[in-house]
Parts: sequence; structure tokens; C-alpha cells
Amino acid sequence: MNQRSSSPTMRLEEISSQLPDYNPNALSVAMATEVISQFVSVTNVSETVDIRNALGRHLAEDIISPINVPSHDNSAMDGYAFGYPHPAEHPNNDFRIIGATFAGHPFVGDIQSGECVRIMTGAMIPMGCDTIVPQELTKSVTDSTVSIPLSHLRKGDNLRCAGEDLSEGKIALAQGKMLRPADLGLLASLGISKVLVRRRLRVAYFSTGDELRGLDETLDAGCIYDSNNYTLQAMLTRLGCDAVDMGIIKDDPAILEASFRQACESADIVITSGGVSVGMADYTKQVMAHLGDVAFWSIDMRPGKPMAFGKIFSDDHSAYLFGLPGNPVAVMVTFYFFVRPAILRMMGAVNTQPLMIPAISKYTIKKRPGRTEFQRGIASLNEGGELEVVLTGAQGSGMLRSMAEANCIIVLPHEQQHINAGNKVMLVLFEGLI
Ligand code: AMP
Ligand code: MG
Repeated sequence: MNQRSSSPTMRLEEISSQLPDYNPNALSVAMATEVISQFVSVTNVSETVDIRNALGRHLAEDIISPINVPSHDNSAMDGYAFGYPHPAEHPNNDFRIIGATFAGHPFVGDIQSGECVRIMTGAMIPMGCDTIVPQELTKSVTDSTVSIPLSHLRKGDNLRCAGEDLSEGKIALAQGKMLRPADLGLLASLGISKVLVRRRLRVAYFSTGDELRGLDETLDAGCIYDSNNYTLQAMLTRLGCDAVDMGIIKDDPAILEASFRQACESADIVITSGGVSVGMADYTKQVMAHLGDVAFWSIDMRPGKPMAFGKIFSDDHSAYLFGLPGNPVAVMVTFYFFVRPAILRMMGAVNTQPLMIPAISKYTIKKRPGRTEFQRGIASLNEGGELEVVLTGAQGSGMLRSMAEANCIIVLPHEQQHINAGNKVMLVLFEGLI
């Protein structure tokens, strides 16, 4: 497994002291990613689930194939099975049809030189046969004779050999794999109906801010609806977490502390939004610091600069903490690039970083060196069949509309300067096939 050897008891300070350029007030995205991945450890609690309920879960065991798949040599085509003849023994193309075999109904009987058996896809290869000719290459000579164009065929053609997909005793799926539809089908093909997977993570989340209102409340002057609650709930659900909604918490230290304690006692991870900046109402920071081993970062990135990360404690319980900024787009970007990899790592995933792919920037993109910028883009194929990307327009960190319009995030690395039209950029697509 692709896991680092960090100790779960290591304090943030110990991890950061080993990183030569660590500076919480000007932290690169790469270093924040590194600290998080070293600090977070895989959860060791697993459960056995039926494969019907295993979609999106992470395997906690290697799956060893108990059988060969396929279990017998079989035909890849509808056609005729025959033993490829020596020209001296069988000088012409005509073969006598001595029977038929269907998938699930093996042919019983002997086959001699110059004979063949009509065979359907998936049917077991009859004893004495080693080659299949597809139906469409043959010509019927009489009711019981078929002409097979031997010169167009090689011995062994159109055969699916026993064990060619998976062989008995080999690892079919490795621990840490996230189970997708193909994996569930593969498990079924091995006759495996239950698997050991990591248990779901419980993630408690709440929004902080006196200005926030729920959708069932009236919007008083100067107030806004709490949208982070909905994006967080949706992103957590997509990752297969049990999302525990704790609503809106006022900018009040006593209420905040009680909420953090309650979250910590019931969840593996606590995510908050808002209150981690340097504003006068940013009490969240002060309460977090009081409850545990928490670092307050100013990350060289846009959007998303302020963020708190660490572990908080309440009585015998502890939980990882992500104090995300308040701005809605900053919440989503910090979630996708910091929280998501941490959650995946805790679930024992092998791949925790999103796949970045190259695209051509259609227009100029302004970029300041010295920070990583995550810009919202719309990617599409141009007439030449190349992936091309344009920005969604204004990139303010409160503008959820442009996040909703986007189909990708363009990741402009730390040292990158302005991008000229026609230059390559790297991006992460929101959606794929599965
Ligand atoms: P803060 O980090 O608390 O200073 O918040 C930064 C900005 O994000 C402010 O404009 C807040 O009103 C806004 N904001 C904070 N929390 C939320 C939320 N849950 N939903 C929508 N906007 C929010
Ligand atoms: Mg606030």
C-alpha cells in the first residue's frame, strides 16, 4: 500500500519541524498537502458488506482469485470448432459437422480429423478442437458439410483460454482500491458476494457567522443564506462519507466551543467554514486553538488563503479538523485539494490526488507568481480535436455561479507567470465516465 510511515501520535509541530521551508504564514500548496498527508492516518476499522452495497467503498483486503476466469477454454465467436489439421491429413477446406454446442451445454463425444462442431459464443471448446472459425467466414457446402478457409486462420484463433482474464491464486483486486462498477462485476465473476471494506467516515460540518441564515429563515438586512452547508454536504456525500449536519453556529466563543466538542465526540473529521481569517469576529480560530493541536495557515493560493488544520480533542475523543475559509468557492477549492485527499487517505485509498490533464488555454490568463491559483474553467475539444479551456469569467472567491458554470479547475502552479493564449495549462475535470 502507498502509505507513509508517519506515526498517528506525531504532533503537527514535529512534522512541520522536519520540513525545512515550513512557514505557517506563507505556506505553499505543496507543503500544506505534505503536512496533511503525513498527519492523517488510515482508519483501521473495517466491515464486511455485500457487493451490492460496496460501490464507492475502499477495499480493506486483497482479493485473491479463488478460480480461473474463464474457468474453461471457450469460444469467442459463433462459428465452428475444429482441430487445426496437418495439410497431409486433411488436404481440403471441407469439414463434416458432427454436432452443436451451446454456452452451458458442453459437447460430449469424440471428434476426428476432418470433422467440426457448430459452436456458440461462450460454449466450452470440445475435446480435440483448438481453433474456432467465425460463422461469417464459412460457406455451407451441404446440410452437414461446411467449408472453412484454412489459409485465413491460425491454430488457436478465436479461443478464450481458461484463466486468461484472472488466474487462480493471483491478486484480482488490491487493498485500497475504490470499488467501481467493473470491480463489482469482477467480484461477481469470481463468485465473491461479500468483501471487507473500510468503514464510512463520519464527517460533522457546520458554518460559522452571525450573517448566515438557513433557507427557512427570513433574510434580514446584511444577511446571506448559508450555501456552504449545501456544497459541503454534497461533496461529502459524493465521497461516500456519512455527513453530519450541525447547521449554523453564531460567532460566539461559548457556543462555538460547545459545537466543536459535540462534533469531535461524534465524528472522525470536523469541517467548519468561516471565521479562520483575521477579522474581529473570527472566534473560530481561538476556540480551535484551545481544543487541540491545530495549525493556522496562510496558504499561498487563490482562492482559499486562510485555513486551519489539525486535531481537536474532547474528553476521550479526537477528530481531525479542517477550518475552511468562509467564501463559498474557497470552501470548494480547499475541500477538493486538501480535504478530499485526506478523506481518501483515511479510507485507505491508493490514489488520493486528482488526475491533472493538459489543455491549451484559448486566451491569456493573468497569474501572479508565488501562489497556486485554482481558476474555474470550461474545457472542450476544439476543431483539431485538442482539449482547449477558457475561464468562466470573473474569478471572485464568493462567486458560486462561475463554479456552477465550470466543468473543470485549472491549476496554475506556484511559480507560474501569466499564461499566453495557446499555452498549455493543467486542469482537473469535474466529471468523467463513472
Ligand atoms: P469569513 O471567513 O467568516 O470572514 O467569511 C468570508 C466571506 O464568506 C464572508 O463574506 C461571509 O459572509 C461568507 N460566508 C461565510 N460563511 C458562509 C456560508 N456558510 N455561506 C455563504 N457565504 C459564507
Ligand atoms: Mg465570518
